[in-house]
Amino acid sequence: INAIAVMTSGGDSPGMNPAIRSVTRAALNQGVRVFGINRGYSGLIIGDIFELKSRNVTNIVQRGGTILKSDRCEAFKDPVVRHQAAEILKEHGIGGLIVIGGDGSLTGAHLLFHETGIPVIGLPGTIDNDIYGTDDTIGFDTALNTALEAIDKIRDTAISHERIFLVEVMGRNSGHIASQVGVACGAEMIIVPEIDFTLETLSFTLANQRAEGRGSSGIIVVAEGPRPGLTYRLARQLEIDGQTAGVCILGHIQRGGQPTGHDRVLASCLGAAAVTYLLAGETDIMVGIKNSKITAIPLLDIMEQKKPLNPELVQLAQLLHK
Ligand code: ATP
Repeated sequence: INAIAVMTSGGDSPGMNPAIRSVTRAALNQGVRVFGINRGYSGLIIGDIFELKSRNVTNIVQRGGTILKSDRCEAFKDPVVRHQAAEILKEHGIGGLIVIGGDGSLTGAHLLFHETGIPVIGLPGTIDNDIYGTDDTIGFDTALNTALEAIDKIRDTAISHERIFLVEVMGRNSGHIASQVGVACGAEMIIVPEIDFTLETLSFTLANQRAEGRGSSGIIVVAEGPRPGLTYRLARQLEIDGQTAGVCILGHIQRGGQPTGHDRVLASCLGAAAVTYLLAGETDIMVGIKNSKITAIPLLDIMEQKKPLNPELVQLAQLLHK
């Protein structure tokens, strides 16, 4: 392989920039040319590709977002379009592609390899930490800390006004952010898509808290869940029960900001490792981290398996609150 390409795809996450920097510098140091693809698969299919030199990745290690931009590209779900994409890569002399993104982006990479033979390596770039086979994803730690900073402030108001606040964090299908945020902010309750819960349980928990004389302020962390509007529905229910609750949707604030030291180190390690694997002839894998060791996981496994939530975290938050 004389040249490789790198792209970021799906929702952006803090740490994508240090990952791009690491991929670029690791490849250049081994005499391999590097191309950046703008806007993920959207840029690939129109040939929005440029050569990355070392200076292009100067001063980005500390920056949130992605210098390569990111996008969602429906057209890439069409096999014909994926064949066109492969032709574009070949025209540029690109012998391998590194895709930094979530499970959707990694699925696209897997299909590209299987249908066209273009070697691909994935990197887990998502704040959600919901990718099977890796303990951690690039951006999760930053998102966790961003959410905590916000919630610590909300708690001041919750205490002053003796109010409950329902704080919604990201996680449509997974409660990985919510469970960790919940433990770290001392939440009264955590609501995640993986664990059934009823409105009665919520009302009961809050009533108990009041009965035990522990005041009526508190933070309930809610993962956004598959159906929009859950947090507002919960607030309405509490109101019916005679308890007013403030609602705060943290939203996209969780996706931005300077990557934490942890995410910068993770992104740098995984980026360089992705290049090593690609140049060693590996393909169709994601490079992740398991028990503090860099590991390769087949992309197929990631597509077929859901990363389980650690239910102990949700229980722990409740235990620590008693
Ligand atoms: P995040 O969930 O963190 O936002 P993601 O990578 O999972 O990241 P998606 O919107 O699911 O985000 O996917 C990003 C892009 O990957 C899609 O817009 C599409 O271009 C490509 N992709 C997703 N699923 C497929 C698929 N089944 N086949 C081909 N390409 C896909």
